[in-house]
Amino acid sequence: ILGVLTDLLSVGTDRRIHYMISKGGSEALLQVLVNAAQTPEPDYSVLLPLLRLLAKVGQRDRRFGQKAQTLEATDVTLTLARKNLAHHQNLTHCLWVLRVYASNAVSVGTSLGMNGAMELLFKVITPYTKKHTRTMRAAIELLAALLKSKSNSRRAVNRGYLCELLKLYQDWHHCDTSNSYVHIRRGFLLCLKHITNIQTGREAFLFIRGIEILFTTGQECLASKSLDPIVNTVTQILRKCYPKGRLPVATVSSSYSFSIPGSGGTGSSYAGPEDNCEDYGEEEMEKDLDNEDLENKEEEDDLETDVDKLTSKPELARPEAELGQYKAICPELSCNFQVGLLGSYPPIIPNAAFSMQQQHCRERDQPAMVPELGERAVKVTPSNWKKKGKPTENEAPDRRARGESTRDPACLSKGEDATKSDTPTLHPLPTETCWDARTFHAQCVNSLYSREGVEAPDVVTKLLERHPGNICFHSPHFYMARARRTCSIPDYRVLAFPDFWGHQPPTYCQSMLQRKYGVQRAKIFEDVRCLIQPSDVIDLVVFDLDSRSPDAPDGLKFFSKFESGNLRKAIQVREFEYNLILNSDLNTTQHHQWFYFEVSAMKPALPYRFNIINCEKFNSQFNYGMQPVMYSVKEALQGRPHWIRVGYDICYYKNHYRRCAAAAGGVRGKSYYTLAFSVTFPHKDDICYLAYHYPYTYSALMSHLDLLKQARNPKKVFFRQQTLCYTLGGNPCPLLTITAMPQSQRSDDLEQFRDRPYVVLMSRVHPGESNASWVMKGTIEFLLSSDPIAELLRRCFIFKIIHMLNPDGVINGNHRCSLSGDDLNRQWLAPSSQLHPTIYHTKGLLYYLRSINRTPLVFCDYHGHSQRKNVFLYGCSIKETLWQAGCTVDTAVVTEDVGYRTLPKILDKVAPAFVMSSCSFLVEKSRGSTARVVVWRENGVLRSYTMESTYCGCSHGLYKVTDKERTNRERAHSPDSRGLQIGTRELEEMGAKFCLGLLILQLKSLPCSKNLMDQAATLLDLEEEITDLRVQRSVQQHYS
Ligand SMILES: [Zn+2]
Repeated sequence: ILGVLTDLLSVGTDRRIHYMISKGGSEALLQVLVNAAQTPEPDYSVLLPLLRLLAKVGQRDRRFGQKAQTLEATDVTLTLARKNLAHHQNLTHCLWVLRVYASNAVSVGTSLGMNGAMELLFKVITPYTKKHTRTMRAAIELLAALLKSKSNSRRAVNRGYLCELLKLYQDWHHCDTSNSYVHIRRGFLLCLKHITNIQTGREAFLFIRGIEILFTTGQECLASKSLDPIVNTVTQILRKCYPKGRLPVATVSSSYSFSIPGSGGTGSSYAGPEDNCEDYGEEEMEKDLDNEDLENKEEEDDLETDVDKLTSKPELARPEAELGQYKAICPELSCNFQVGLLGSYPPIIPNAAFSMQQQHCRERDQPAMVPELGERAVKVTPSNWKKKGKPTENEAPDRRARGESTRDPACLSKGEDATKSDTPTLHPLPTETCWDARTFHAQCVNSLYSREGVEAPDVVTKLLERHPGNICFHSPHFYMARARRTCSIPDYRVLAFPDFWGHQPPTYCQSMLQRKYGVQRAKIFEDVRCLIQPSDVIDLVVFDLDSRSPDAPDGLKFFSKFESGNLRKAIQVREFEYNLILNSDLNTTQHHQWFYFEVSAMKPALPYRFNIINCEKFNSQFNYGMQPVMYSVKEALQGRPHWIRVGYDICYYKNHYRRCAAAAGGVRGKSYYTLAFSVTFPHKDDICYLAYHYPYTYSALMSHLDLLKQARNPKKVFFRQQTLCYTLGGNPCPLLTITAMPQSQRSDDLEQFRDRPYVVLMSRVHPGESNASWVMKGTIEFLLSSDPIAELLRRCFIFKIIHMLNPDGVINGNHRCSLSGDDLNRQWLAPSSQLHPTIYHTKGLLYYLRSINRTPLVFCDYHGHSQRKNVFLYGCSIKETLWQAGCTVDTAVVTEDVGYRTLPKILDKVAPAFVMSSCSFLVEKSRGSTARVVVWRENGVLRSYTMESTYCGCSHGLYKVTDKERTNRERAHSPDSRGLQIGTRELEEMGAKFCLGLLILQLKSLPCSKNLMDQAATLLDLEEEITDLRVQRSVQQHYS
């Protein structure tokens, strides 16, 4: 009968076995075993096939262990094994079945352990011998299963088994030279892995020098790929047993603090004292990289399923009287063109000659609305940095009107991309110039901030004369002037060179990095080596925001006291390796992700290794092809002012630094993560900057707006820059209004002007998401350009744009929060006018528009997404949310316009980086206080979106590189075809394409005049042709 059963179950799928299990097959077989084994003379010709069948069935039966225990089959099998210690074939069969019992249920393992199973197994596995390896393997695998039980592990530690296991592992490692017994060797490692899950196990393991032994033996296995199972398990054990430590900083709170108005103290997020970093948690989950299931589960639970909440539209939460103040920031609704609007706002040109008082102003005491900066009395004088052959900024508008300047708005439009990227616009340094970056740094950059002098420092003047940079919409002078007025908490006095000098995307594109095999475990071995072979460990603090650090004689120099900079501490680990610690967001103890710092005094052509050791997210795109960005001052001065992707051997993994509860949102025992990467610098004694993503500072925004203001065509473009409010840090938050000037002063044209629907766009509520700024830059430049599509768009809509909702966060190098330590995109339900002024007043503006029946047609908040590729939208849909949550939807009660899907569908067609399939229209409970959900629910904006842009790259469409398009060199560098990493050009293009999408949306789904329709139709045909052409050209460019 056993033979027939075995045959039946050996063919076909597992369905047969599952059927038998469902019919009580496991119990029946176990009962037979109990009966047969307990006879005085057991018949092994029956028992052996039975045991084999039990092992086979048991593997598929999740309750097999419990069933065996209930029927007392576990004890019977153990007894049988004990009787057969000398009979290897019988013993092996018993061990197989025992292993199935134990691996199904830890409690079964525990009771087997109490009945002496481990002692029995030690008799089998000791001493080392190559005889009976099948039995040996069965025994060691059973032992590993038993040791999943903590009480067994504790017993193993108490009885000294750990030491014996380690010794046996070493014997097998040394004697198995032909690698024939990898399973047995791995079995020993699994035993060690389970025992070291408990703290006494780890302590004992350290005591018997387990780390050293595994490190050495593990290294001997690295070369052979067939030994991967061994190396991986060794790595897991090493990571786990590496002694946990505290981050080497005095406190995890931010180095800077800000006293919040009205609170008397600093920091709303201070969560009590920082606890000690004990080893919490007995069992460490090895789930670093496979948290996705968990995430999905949490996402499902997070869906808003309350139909009332989804469908209700709350009343205006502000008194009507208070809304009146927002009239002032909607000048388009009341301006009287007869008086000559143009004449009343002379263009204001900040320049280096203009001595700016430092604004220690705390102007939040004033009413929210203040006159726009432009209205301040600023005298325009011929500047002292006027250069031969280059028009001063004063003369420029005339030249622009004649279409001569590169900053002509026409250069914004279609044909211009090519010129912008093709021509190196900085002249190379004369070769005889002996330019020393360090001198530059000391003499020039520091003095840029000298507030007494009215003249630009000589060094800067000379530098700019030699390198008249003309990066589109960037001017070092404007930048300098704006930076002087920027209020930072640390009172920055140094400019980072890339922000000052400007960035231009390189003419080539960079593919995502191919991850090198074994890079992470190599890195972990390196970390362990620091611990056990510390002879070459330097461990010297070379930079510290909190205290003066000594000058390292030979090493790199670090610096981060500039806008958006946030390196807190740098520790030289070995000669060419540095551990870096990022500063927390102000008034918090966390949010380490964004980084931006300067590094100098490097030697060329040597790989430097950087480890950012206090990252917090459990995974990162750095594990999937993303690289950080670098800007070299020497390269910039030689005509290549580019932030480029650099770094290799990149990996991101959990490290041994434990977060105190205060730094982990109250959760104890969480770890930090390390981002490790190597960089080879291009020049000797250069100054380089490394960042998480292409920086875009507040001063960059302000100077960018200054240039745009001058560059637009005032006869066609209605453009106003006003101050929405001042931030806690005393910085004005600019609000832009962009639309077309009325066609004429006839009343119907004026009416058309005022009746245009609103589009409200904003970005950079999260300061670390600089990609959002580049997208917004693209949007604004396109909207102000002379592109005929932009012209049409301006005639269709009134754009209200708040580019930087969190200027203070950006300035002070935060990743997520504002000065109050709050995530501003979680404050939309009830923003405080004191603590969250930008959100409070943006919401006020939206309320005001609603109160005058001018609810925006489209609302979009630009963000960056750190875990995904491509660009996509999040929107809000009642029905999709309910469906996703598995709720029944009563279509009679819930009606919904599906118009929210149109714009993303259009973008999927027109924007190369955009992917519809990544979009989501679910309303999550946890997002109830975000801009997208609140504007949708409270203001009834159907098309209320968050636009998420990748930091990494694209895996779809045009920017997914096909193998054919790649050069041989690229193919050699990364064998498989992958997408491009996103650059500022692609981000800006996304911003422009978003506008195009709005125009198509208007044509497709909204009422519009025939005239407009005809014009647009012609243009869009044209656009399609041009796009095709440009695609071809850019592909040629990238790969020729
Ligand atoms: Zn964000």
